[in-house]
Amino acid sequence: MSGNEERTFIAIKPDGVQRGLIGEIIKRFEQKGFKLVAMKLIQADEDLMRQHYCDLKDRPFFPGLVRFMSSGPVVAMCYFCDIFLGSNAIDSKPGTIRGDFCIQVVRNIIHGSDSVESANTEINLWFKPEEICDYTKCQDSWLNG
Ligand code: UDP
Ligand code: MG
Repeated sequence: MSGNEERTFIAIKPDGVQRGLIGEIIKRFEQKGFKLVAMKLIQADEDLMRQHYCDLKDRPFFPGLVRFMSSGPVVAMCYFCDIFLGSNAIDSKPGTIRGDFCIQVVRNIIHGSDSVESANTEINLWFKPEEICDYTKCQDSWLNG
């Protein structure tokens, strides 16, 4: 497996947008070579965020999380990228997005799907099929050998 055969859903959270980190974050996915197939700036309503985080609905921080995530625009993206995010900001290593830009677990600037299954659910929640591009990226053969 070349590392980019599955799709993942990535969102730059409202704090990442407000802190002016959109370009910095996209740059990292782009320079790594992951293929971007969908992207939009969207102010999500609380209903969408409740669905997105439905697995966490019984956690005490859920209402605050839903309010925070719908408090400003987010950048929703879909990449061919089968590396899934797994660490909170405190455990994130230097060199990772959260490790380099965040100091605590609540304001952690980026969401990434944690499995193939959640990626598919999240992509379907955030994007219509026609919003997802199907194209060949010419650098793929140079990245994958
Ligand atoms: N979160 C929070 N309070 C907490 C733990 C998490 O507000 O005590 C937020 C945080 O923004 C996190 C999101 O809830 O990114 C989802 O939590 P999860 O444990 O799934 O973290 P992630 O998968 O994003 O690392
Ligand atoms: Mg999670």
